[in-house]
Amino acid sequence: MYKAIGYAAQSATSPLAPMHFERRAPRADDVVIDILYCGVCHSDIHQARNEWGIAVFPLMPGHEIIGRVSAVGSNAGKYQPGDLVGVGCMVDSCRSCEACRANLEQYCLEGPTMTYTTPDRIDGSYTLGGYSDRIVVSEDFVVRIPDGMDLPSAAPILCAGITTWSPLRHHGVGPGHKVGVLGMGGLGHMGIKLAKALGAEVTLFTRSASKAEEARAQGADHVIVSTDSQQMAAAADRFDFLLDTIPVQHDLNPYLRTLKFNGVHILVGLIEPIEPALDATELVLKRRVVAGSLIGGIAETQEVLDFCAERDIRCDIEMLDIRNINQAYERMIAGDVKYRFVIDMATLQR
Ligand code: NDP
Ligand code: ZN
Repeated sequence: MYKAIGYAAQSATSPLAPMHFERRAPRADDVVIDILYCGVCHSDIHQARNEWGIAVFPLMPGHEIIGRVSAVGSNAGKYQPGDLVGVGCMVDSCRSCEACRANLEQYCLEGPTMTYTTPDRIDGSYTLGGYSDRIVVSEDFVVRIPDGMDLPSAAPILCAGITTWSPLRHHGVGPGHKVGVLGMGGLGHMGIKLAKALGAEVTLFTRSASKAEEARAQGADHVIVSTDSQQMAAAADRFDFLLDTIPVQHDLNPYLRTLKFNGVHILVGLIEPIEPALDATELVLKRRVVAGSLIGGIAETQEVLDFCAERDIRCDIEMLDIRNINQAYERMIAGDVKYRFVIDMATLQR
């Protein structure tokens, strides 16, 4: 066992605070990682406040982890001490079902083991995430950080990057496609960069007119202010794909009207009922599709890291002292971060 420290919520209403705990001794296929950086995802807030109703406390968030291998299990051969590696949203799955065999472990038919607040498949203990000084993970759920990559700005690729990459790739987004990205936060700003890099014409839909210039700097060709009904109406029947990162319930109907026939509205931000209801007219008359997507598989996560390294695509980040994590959550809810907080784990006092 290793002594460890991290920031955890003891209940859905308590702020995050330091917590001492233990990480397991490495199993045969495990890698022990000293965490250097961890991104702060809006899912961390949803879970720490039990907004999805599935949290188990104490809850230690964090699934955009970058660190250095410090030890490996007796049978682990993929990584050596000293290697720079990443861990995203999952740390295990059944490894044998149809989804796992297709390298889509996030859709494991038995349910993937998430990086935090899920029972470990072997000892049943609840997983604790990356707002901590170290983590112990099976090497099969660890990815390699390409040489020369800027580490803090790569951390959010482990969730924000892969969550936008996977649906763009699954739906074959490329040159000639018009893609709308809904919401420019952590996921949205990566969605813009990745869709653009794949060759699409990209439009940001935002509530915030003030983000227009920055969106263009991210690579957006156009910006639509979603609260302006005239701008929304003028965009009717324009898009092949919408990538919806909005983290709260919202009316999809005005967005559906901006899709061409056969267009696909891909939900990644919403993990709750659609409210208000969908008007099926918008779907039926134009054969439009509402789809969803969950993070991405481990192989795809390596793929997006390699793609970002090759193209020098970086997340826009603000470095965070972990002692300010609770204020950071408030700022994220207020939309006041450009565009991802990344915790510098050197600020974690042992
Ligand atoms: P952020 O808070 O960084 O960004 C969300 C953006 O959505 C904001 O910047 C804002 O953009 C827009 N937005 C925020 N509140 C509202 C609102 N009330 N109405 C309309 N638009 C709003 O969040 P993340 O990017 O980290 O995460 C987005 C969502 O994706 C979260 O719900 C998260 O849990 C989920 N998620 C899903 C995953 C999956 O696998 N499917 C994986 C990871 C995260 P603007 O100001 O431009 O309008
Ligand atoms: Zn996330």
